[in-house]
Amino acid sequence: MTATSTYEVSRVELTTLLAGEPRYRVDQVWHGLYAELARPAEMTTLPVALRARLTEELPEALVTVTERVSEHGQTVKLLSRLVDDTRIETVLMLYADRATVCVSTQAGCAMGCGFCATGQAGFERHLSTGEIVEQVVRAARRSRHAGRRLSNVVFMGMGEPLANYDRVWAAVERIHGDLGLSARHLTISTVGIVPGIERLAGAALPVNLAVSLHAADDQLRDELVPVNRRYPLDRLMAACSRYVEATRRRLSFEWALIDGVNDRAVDAERLAGRCRELPLAPHVNLIPLNPTPGWPTKGTPPAGVRLFHDQLLAHGVNATVRRNRGTSIDAACGQLAAGAPVELKASRPAR
Ligand code: SAH
Ligand code: SF4
Repeated sequence: MTATSTYEVSRVELTTLLAGEPRYRVDQVWHGLYAELARPAEMTTLPVALRARLTEELPEALVTVTERVSEHGQTVKLLSRLVDDTRIETVLMLYADRATVCVSTQAGCAMGCGFCATGQAGFERHLSTGEIVEQVVRAARRSRHAGRRLSNVVFMGMGEPLANYDRVWAAVERIHGDLGLSARHLTISTVGIVPGIERLAGAALPVNLAVSLHAADDQLRDELVPVNRRYPLDRLMAACSRYVEATRRRLSFEWALIDGVNDRAVDAERLAGRCRELPLAPHVNLIPLNPTPGWPTKGTPPAGVRLFHDQLLAHGVNATVRRNRGTSIDAACGQLAAGAPVELKASRPAR
């Protein structure tokens, strides 16, 4: 795993590190890191020797390898190298009303969903808290560079956040408490790890929860999302209900529409039935499946997406179609796969 790094270190650890310095230095450095998004070398209020020492003892966890920008500059995909040469991807999306970063929580993923490029690549390792927070900081700096303030964080990049719960939660606390983003602007997306959802139900900060459902019957979900065999739909729905009861917060379901697979009238009907099981009606996000190298089935075409959406609305379900972002730079949902074919991808010119 990784040694300590700029954004891994806690305030208490920083205090120990700065034991021989005047006490106000801790505040100064912490403010520099989190309020100014500065690297120790850029903290001109510090003596030169201290800047050098901090740069040495608290190195950065990420090195940016490539940055790819979509046609209109609204989506930026950052490919980073970690100290052990592992690669991860982070996506910054600049919308009219918000700037959102989609961060990775693991290098690769062990959950094996066949339609997802990360799942196709397999699991490499968990990311540390510092590696997660530093992705947010880099995106915030990049956002600032574009004249925008980073407002939202979605844990929807590479990996399954609830399979790396403790490090992800420590990152949530840091992003909320120190970077100052509202917990309501943070969203954790899960494939449906029941014990993790149960822990989230009792967590202190009201982050949003998105559950990647994709199928509302066990037979189909077992096929699409293999972890469903471990946590089948009835258990998953019970955990979601407990979450909603405990937090009184609406959750959202993600549904990647796959042509002829989960976009039939019966799927809309079953999904509507599942939605009614929750104490508060959920929000359903429809996303036409994005293409990945290792999955032959296509996303539902636009007319089918509209039809499915209409069917859900007719069943009384609150649903929206999510605008696709970043497909041209392989930065859309499920397309992140920095671990495997990355050399190829990074050197390929943007289409
Ligand atoms: N592991 C977590 C978060 C990362 S995946 C999870 O599964 O929720 C983020 C989202 O992208 C999930 O909703 C996932 O189902 C979706 N996704 C994966 N592959 C996709 C693809 N090819 N097209 C569209 N969405 C995809
Ligand atoms: Fe992992 Fe999520 Fe991809 Fe499934 S969809 S393989 S859980 S990253």
